[in-house]
Amino acid sequence: MAQSSEVLLPQKSRFVNKFFNDYVLNAMLLQIYDLNRIKVTFVQMNTQAIEILGKHQIRKTPFRINVLKIFLEAESKALNNSDIESALEDYDRITLYRTLKTFEKSGIIHQAIDGSNESKFALCHQDCTEHEHHDNHAHFLCISCGETYCLENVIHPKFSLPANYSLSKVHLALSGTCAGCQA
Ligand SMILES: [Zn+2]
Ligand SMILES: [Zn+2]
Ligand SMILES: [Zn+2]
Repeated sequence: MAQSSEVLLPQKSRFVNKFFNDYVLNAMLLQIYDLNRIKVTFVQMNTQAIEILGKHQIRKTPFRINVLKIFLEAESKALNNSDIESALEDYDRITLYRTLKTFEKSGIIHQAIDGSNESKFALCHQDCTEHEHHDNHAHFLCISCGETYCLENVIHPKFSLPANYSLSKVHLALSGTCAGCQA
C-alpha cells in the first residue's frame, strides 16, 4: 500500500501541476484579461455616451447615459423594448419611453422597420440630426434568431416615381439568416 502510494503521488502531483498550468492558469489569465477588457469597454462607452448626448445637445442624465450605453453595446443590432428593459437595472416605463422618443427626435437612434410588427430602435451611425435622419440602409430580420440588424452598406435603391408622386420615406426590410445563425 505504502509503496503504491509513493509511486502514485508524484504522478498525481505532476498531473495536478499540468492541469493547473494548462487550465486553471489559463482560465485565471483569461478572467483577468476579460475583467480589464470589460472595465475599459465600460469606461469607453460611458465617455462615448456622454459625447453623443453632448453633440446632440440634450441633457446628460445618468438614465440617458445608461440607455445609450445599451445601444452602443448592441452596435448594429436593433433593440425592442424588452431588450432595453432587461438590460436596465432600474427603470420606469414612462421615462424609458420618453428617453427613446427624445433620442429618436435628436437623431441618436432610428426606428428599424423590419417588416415585423415589433417596434425596434437602433443606433444612428451617420450624421443624423434633430428631425433629420439619414439612415438610408436596409434592416435585416433574421428568421432564425429573430434579431434585426442595420446593414449600413446596403442602401436604398433610387426610385423613379410616376409624375406627381413625391417620396418622403423608404423602408428597406430584408429577411433571411444572419451571419451568427449561418455559422
Ligand atoms: Zn438616424
Ligand atoms: Zn440570426
Ligand atoms: Zn438601422
